[in-house]
Amino acid sequence: MTDNLPYAEVIGDPIAQSKSPIIHKFWLEKLGIKADYRLFHVKPDELADYIAARRKDPDWQGCNVTIPHKLAVMDHVSDPGGVRASIGAMNTVARAENGDLFGTNTDAGGFFAPIADVPLAGQDVVVVGAGGAAQAVLFALSRIEVGSVTIINRNVLKASALLARFGLKGQALEHGSAFPPARLFVNASALGMKGQDELVVNLDHLPDDVIVYDLVYAPIKTKLLQAASARNLETIDGLAMLIGQAAVAFEIFFGQSPPLEHDDELRKLLLA
Ligand code: NAP
Repeated sequence: MTDNLPYAEVIGDPIAQSKSPIIHKFWLEKLGIKADYRLFHVKPDELADYIAARRKDPDWQGCNVTIPHKLAVMDHVSDPGGVRASIGAMNTVARAENGDLFGTNTDAGGFFAPIADVPLAGQDVVVVGAGGAAQAVLFALSRIEVGSVTIINRNVLKASALLARFGLKGQALEHGSAFPPARLFVNASALGMKGQDELVVNLDHLPDDVIVYDLVYAPIKTKLLQAASARNLETIDGLAMLIGQAAVAFEIFFGQSPPLEHDDELRKLLLA
C-alpha cells in the first residue's frame, strides 16, 4: 500500500487506461514531494463503500474520478462550488480543512488553461459535441463571455438544451451543416478518437486566426489537427487539457503548483 505516505488516486471502471498516475507521479518526483498517486479500480456498486473507507483514511488526499462515476459521486460528497448545478459532473474529490469531503470539476479549468491568454470575450466559437467534456467546455466559454456559440452534435436537442443551460447565445446544428466562421473551433466529441468514427468537417471557410482545439488525445495528432496544420492554423491538442485539468487537481491534493516548465518532458512520457 502506501506505507503511510500521503496519497491520491484515480478511480474508474475500467481504470488501467488512465494517464493520471504518469502525470501526478512525474510532478511529485520533480518537486521532491514524498507522496504517491495510483490507480484504483472501483466498480459502480463499490463507490459508496470506497468513499466511506477513504473518508476515514488520513493519508488519502483525494481522488480523480472518471467514467462511470462522474455523476454518482455527487451523491457522496459536498458541493461547495455548486458543480452539480453548473457543469453537472465532478471529476475530483478532496478533503476540506474541516475533514469533510468535497467534489469539484477541474475539466473547465483544464480546457481554459491553454487559451487563457487568447482574448475570446465576444468572439464566436464552434463546439462539436454535447457530452460531459462539452459541458465543461461550455461552462468555461460562458465564464469567458464569448460571443455566439454553435454546437454541432448528433443529438441536436441535447445541444440546444446545453446552450440554454449555460446561458449562451447561438445555435445547435447537425453534423454536415454549414457552420459560421469562428475564432475558436473545439472538438469535444468522441469523434476522431481511436476506435471511433472520424470527425468529418470542412475547415476551409474558417478565418486564418482560428484556433483549432481537439480534446481527443488518443491519437494525439487527430485528422482534425492534421487538416488544421495543413492550413497553417494554430492548433491545441488534447494533452494540453489533460495536463491542465491534472494541474488544478494536483494543487488541490498536494498544496503546490505543479512544475509546468517541464511540460515538454511530461508530454514525451505521455506519448511514449
Ligand atoms: P461523452 O459524454 O460520452 O460524449 C460523447 C460525445 O461524442 C457526444 O456529443 C456524442 O454525441 C458524440 N459522439 C459519440 N459517438 C459519436 C458518433 N458515432 N457520431 C457522432 N457523434 C458521436 O464523452 P466525453 O466524456 O464528453 O468525451 C468526449 C471526448 O473528449 C473523448 O474523446 C474524451 O477522450 C475527450 N476528453 C478529453 C479530455 C482531456 O483532458 N483532453 C477530458 C475529457 C474528455 P451524442 O450527444 O449525439 O451522443
